[in-house]
Amino acid sequence: MSGCFICEKHLDMSSVPGGVIAEDEHIVVSHLPLVTPQGTAESVYLGRLVLEPRRHVEDLGELTDDQAASLGRMAARGSAALRRAAGAEHVYAAVISDAIPHIHLHLLPRYPATPREYWWVRLDEWPDAPMGGADEVAELAERLRAVA
Ligand SMILES: [Zn+2]
Repeated sequence: MSGCFICEKHLDMSSVPGGVIAEDEHIVVSHLPLVTPQGTAESVYLGRLVLEPRRHVEDLGELTDDQAASLGRMAARGSAALRRAAGAEHVYAAVISDAIPHIHLHLLPRYPATPREYWWVRLDEWPDAPMGGADEVAELAERLRAVA
């Protein structure tokens, strides 16, 4: 859809460090980019993945059965890859999509050193959170792609 950040990103994934980590005919998996409609970040929480339907969909309930099945498979594979290649001890999953209506499932890894008070929505407020710029994100994406 014209004007949609995610639809336009899918046309040119070169803006996302590490590019596509996994994909099929319905879903594209990549790392959270540094440039979003909210602004440009120098670094992002490492391992925060976004799983996005190729089709512009604004509610989980709009996914076809095949798209939903792909999303579930990709969430399982992404979670397993974060545990094997990034050292996550647990992976949270959430669809928020308040800022960008095109749904995207976030996978958020919790690392063994993460203090409890920073779990879930405050992971990137943890002062020692593993943050990375484009090079670190691209390197992690390569490790995830190798095991995804
Ligand atoms: Zn869209």
